[in-house]
Amino acid sequence: MIVVMEHGATQAQIDHVRDRIVALGLSAHLSQGEFRAIIGAVGDKQPEHQAILEAMEGVERVVPIMKPYKLASREFHEADSVVDVGGVPIGSGVTLIAGPCAIESRESLWRIAEAVRARGAAILRGGAFKPRTSPYSFQGLGVEGLKLLRAAGDAFGMPVVTEVMSIADVDVVAQYADMIQIGARNVQNFNLLAAVGETRRPVLLKRGFATTVAEFLMSAEYVLSRGNRSLVLCERGIKTFETELRYTFDVAAVPLIKHNTHLPVIVDPSHACGRREYVTALALAGVAAGADGVVVEVHDCPEAALCDGPQALLPDMFAEMTRQVGAVAKALGRELVPARTTRL
Ligand code: PEP
Ligand code: MN
Repeated sequence: MIVVMEHGATQAQIDHVRDRIVALGLSAHLSQGEFRAIIGAVGDKQPEHQAILEAMEGVERVVPIMKPYKLASREFHEADSVVDVGGVPIGSGVTLIAGPCAIESRESLWRIAEAVRARGAAILRGGAFKPRTSPYSFQGLGVEGLKLLRAAGDAFGMPVVTEVMSIADVDVVAQYADMIQIGARNVQNFNLLAAVGETRRPVLLKRGFATTVAEFLMSAEYVLSRGNRSLVLCERGIKTFETELRYTFDVAAVPLIKHNTHLPVIVDPSHACGRREYVTALALAGVAAGADGVVVEVHDCPEAALCDGPQALLPDMFAEMTRQVGAVAKALGRELVPARTTRL
């Protein structure tokens, strides 16, 4: 439930209500708005707890949250959340994230990082731990890849995002990356979600290809409930009866998730369709539907890519995508989020 404090409630009253929530055995999550404080209480028993809190000084009203996800819900936090990723805010405009599917070598990563930075990317992506369908496919460079990604991000002034697949690697990924990605295949790996929820690194959570929006938001709740509030969601396509493309891009998920939650939502058109010729069209659809950003795979020599070559945009295709996404954003009264101008 949500405890809405009166306009002008004192700090002592807010603290008292928060302490009471904790004493009732619930978890308390304070959200200090411009005009009033709101305290989320998770784990409540109705109607007793509501009645106790309603009787407290400084409390204006107590509202039950109807959704099964609490901290993710718009009821809990009305305004859109903005997540700072190494100095780049996601949720304050349209943020472009680009880079190779996998980190392959220092040379290729440097070339691609330089190319995407010059063509509008604000954040660099690249996989060091790759979730491959076949155990015989390239699995990623591991920690060596993380080090290269960090160095490339620093060299070109971009924060970096990369996937973690196992709890054992969470610390090392959090050490080198500005944002930790949970891939589609791990969206319901609840222990891994809890582990990244324990860190204070921003998390990029991708929707599973067989995950409903409601299930996806319960996964988000796992991260938030561990205290990590820096969470961005990503629609990346789901399995349907259509087999022509890799997955089916569920564009309706974008406004649906944004209606029900306060979390930024970005789209990944590369994995959604699997073919470079359709990536820009899906990126535009996602942004027109309200997405806060786009993550795409870019490679300067896709035929030599060790992973996902067919869906990689060439650098100049990415430049054109940036131009078109910028135009759509502008038409909707939004702006592309600029890249950092300085190293942090
Ligand atoms: C990726 O972004 O590198 C990736 C593997 O994506 P997904 O988890 O969406 O398949
Ligand atoms: Mn990929």
